[in-house]
Parts: sequence; structure tokens; C-alpha cells
Amino acid sequence: MTDLSDHLDSSEIRCKDGCGRASMSPEFLDLFEIMRKMIADFYGYQRPIICTSVDPKRNGGNRCPARNKFAGGARRSEHMNMPGTCLDVFVAGMSTRELAWWARAAGFTAIGIYTHNIHMGLKGSKKHMVQWGPLRGQYQKPIRRHRKGV
Ligand SMILES: [Zn+2]
Repeated sequence: MTDLSDHLDSSEIRCKDGCGRASMSPEFLDLFEIMRKMIADFYGYQRPIICTSVDPKRNGGNRCPARNKFAGGARRSEHMNMPGTCLDVFVAGMSTRELAWWARAAGFTAIGIYTHNIHMGLKGSKKHMVQWGPLRGQYQKPIRRHRKGV
């Protein structure tokens, strides 16, 4: 069982310096679950959205100010919000351009697109998306590939 929502556990997003910070806002969790369901419905199977914090060296979940500084995060990084309003994530085998498309479709309004992960959060608004990263703005609509006979 996961303790934050149906598919997200506090252990996945907990601040890495041992301070115990591990919370996500209800609004974030709603969009996270919506996004996961949209992807599962489209592909016909579950594709977990994984926080980059699975890597012990990454800090893609909650960060206290000390950890944010350690991680070299932006001075006002969304990762310091309490409760959390953003995560750095990836989906195995999916391009970050496509993942960003899903994040935007689900309703996230702050999106950073990098080569191996995206940042998705609630900064900004539908009208004024906050976007950054080397691939900012490069959304790619998913293409369903039908196998012969399926
Ligand atoms: Zn901390």
C-alpha cells in the first residue's frame, strides 16, 4: 500500500537529509493520479510515474531549505513547498517530451523538460504556464502504435 495516494508513497518523495519532510498537497496528488490513469488508459497497461529520488544521489521530491541548497536547487525552488507541489519524474521507456505532454494534459502548470526527467508542479496557471529546461516547450503528443493482429 502507498500512503500518499493510490500510487505514491511518502518513502519515494521524502527529503534526503533525514529531516523527515515527506508530504504532497491534495491538488498535486489529484493531478498525479489523473495523469497516471490517462497514461494507463492510453496504453492499456500501467506505466508507473517514478520520482527521480529513487536514485540515492537525486533530490526530486521534497527538499528542506538545507537540502535544496545542498542539491543546488533554485533559491525559491518549488521543491521546498510544504506540503509538496512538485516532483521530478520519469516513466521508463517514455521520452520526456511525451511525458511533459501528459503532465500538461493532466493539468500541471509548471513543467521543466530535461533529457532524462521532467519537473512537474503547480506553479503558474493554465493561462500562464511556467516552463524551463533545455527542452522547454517541446511537447510531443503520444502516438499509439498498433501491433499487427491486436
Ligand atoms: Zn530535509
